[in-house]
Amino acid sequence: MALVVQKFGGTSVADPQKILAAAKKAIARQQGGHQVVVVVSAMGHQTDVLVDLAKQISDRPSAREMDMLLSTGEQVSVALFAMAIQSLGHKAVSLTGAQIGIRTDSTHTKARIKSISTDHVKKILDGGAIVIAAGFQGIDQDGNITTLGRGGSDTTAVALAAVLDADLCEIYTDVDGVYTTDPRMLPEARRLASISYDEMLELASLGAGVMHPRSIEFAKKFGVKVLVRSSFKDVPGTVILAAEESTPRPASGVALAKDEARITLENIPDQPGSSHALFSQLAASGIAVDMIVQNVGQGGRADISFTVPADDLTGALDVSNQVARQLAATGVSHDAELAKVSVVGVGMEREEGVAGRMFTALSAAGINVRMITTSEIKISVLVDKKDAQAAVQAVHRAFGLEAETTDGGADVAGSQLVKSSPLDVVRRLEGMEDLAIEDCQLDSSQALVTFTDLPDKPGVAADVFEEVGRAGLFVDMIVQSHPRNGLAEISFTVPAGDRDKAIDVAQKIAATRGATVADVPHVAKLSITGVGIRSHAGVADRLFKPLADCGINIDLVSTSEVRLNVVVAAEHGEKSLKVLREAFGLS
Ligand code: ADP
Ligand code: ASP
Ligand code: MG
Repeated sequence: MALVVQKFGGTSVADPQKILAAAKKAIARQQGGHQVVVVVSAMGHQTDVLVDLAKQISDRPSAREMDMLLSTGEQVSVALFAMAIQSLGHKAVSLTGAQIGIRTDSTHTKARIKSISTDHVKKILDGGAIVIAAGFQGIDQDGNITTLGRGGSDTTAVALAAVLDADLCEIYTDVDGVYTTDPRMLPEARRLASISYDEMLELASLGAGVMHPRSIEFAKKFGVKVLVRSSFKDVPGTVILAAEESTPRPASGVALAKDEARITLENIPDQPGSSHALFSQLAASGIAVDMIVQNVGQGGRADISFTVPADDLTGALDVSNQVARQLAATGVSHDAELAKVSVVGVGMEREEGVAGRMFTALSAAGINVRMITTSEIKISVLVDKKDAQAAVQAVHRAFGLEAETTDGGADVAGSQLVKSSPLDVVRRLEGMEDLAIEDCQLDSSQALVTFTDLPDKPGVAADVFEEVGRAGLFVDMIVQSHPRNGLAEISFTVPAGDRDKAIDVAQKIAATRGATVADVPHVAKLSITGVGIRSHAGVADRLFKPLADCGINIDLVSTSEVRLNVVVAAEHGEKSLKVLREAFGLS
């Protein structure tokens, strides 16, 4: 006998007929000989309706009362769901988050799960009933009802699957799986049979709304097997699993974040502590920063650019203006009409020319790239919002994703369910959603090449990386900073052994474009990996601070959901590794 958690999203329980249909799925699972826990969202768009109601009463409703209000949506649907099962002649008990014992912190409207007690749920399951759990809600230490943030029922489901050591967590929704990009935006998107946790984590947090990003953090941390499938069609779906079990592809999917804003602090002193000054104050204001790009700079001065969701622009500008004054920056510029397009794939680090392919496609579509940052498994570019849709399509086609074969099914039938090795139970129950830093590594094998004064026009990044790719160079990090005075700066790293070749190629490119090339033959790249890196505010600053404290300057930064990379001078490599390991509690 296995334990299965099934989650039904809003559209899947939008009316009584749909609730009855979903109830039959739960019963069928139980009759297959399994214990079943069902997690339910509010019916249809009920949560939106409640938000709207609150707005009609007050411009600024208190967060505590918002949670009190929003949690009622799920309370209605769990009761109806349990009644549906009972009406079909089976046993069911509905429970609110508080009744289950889902303990969270007190950050109303975006609380994080601290622990979940399993006794009550297990007792009901052992008594032969199906447990119907309210998604999206919990209770803090003072007994206040909290919610986990919009879309948070996915997180409830995967968290329950983790603590109960479930064999499978099924996410029933209105699409039949995870697609190469949002099928509502691009009809030629294709369903993927499987995808790795890291790819899904990146895609979800880069804009793919199909899964709540924090649910994937849980799935990865606790090894929960997740199956995303349709509520309405009996077709295979997509399995989300560990990278070792998934197919490495240079590109698995393309995500779009539509409302991005960029801020640049111009000409700040290029010295230890500048980044820390900025990002510590942003974190203190609760602003989670997304892309961070620092240019290499000239004359001891550099620019730092970063992006935030457009909603946070005002707050982030206040902090930036203040920090700009402290650091004697010459100016602060910003732009709110931007979108971020990202391509994600665990196989991209093993293949040459992936970046070139993306930039070439954008250039052919006449789209100007405003900023670039990469990590081992993703490339993100910032483009004008008006170009967003065309950019997604161009990139999607460049990787042949419209032709993605769904290589069979992802049908995980009840009989195939196998118990995974049980994890340490204590570890599961404490600080469930805490930031989990896994490792910090030093790579001293790379050289850094920088172009300055490149003309800022469509196709420049494409030209550079096409030629770099043609020369057979394996590029690791790529950063393009925000252009100033019509000139852009692009930096990339290559294996130190390829440095001469890279310089040759770079000089040829530079000569025809009036750009200049600089290089550092040996740099040290430090990578912090873990779970929750971007969803926890202030992680970047935990990296900047210890380096600033021992006077180490940062040359290049790139951030992603599962990784933070910084490049420093080679001679500071070992020292940086030591202080970072200490700062993140890795002995
Ligand atoms: P639920 O209410 O079941 O939680 P959501 O609306 O939260 O459903 O998520 C499903 C929607 O996510 C789909 O209808 C689809 O438009 C959107 N979506 C965005 N990106 C993707 C993607 N890469 N694959 C599948 N669906 C996606
Ligand atoms: N009902 C909540 C929302 O609409 C939670 C969820 O559906 O996941 O955001
Ligand atoms: Mg959802």
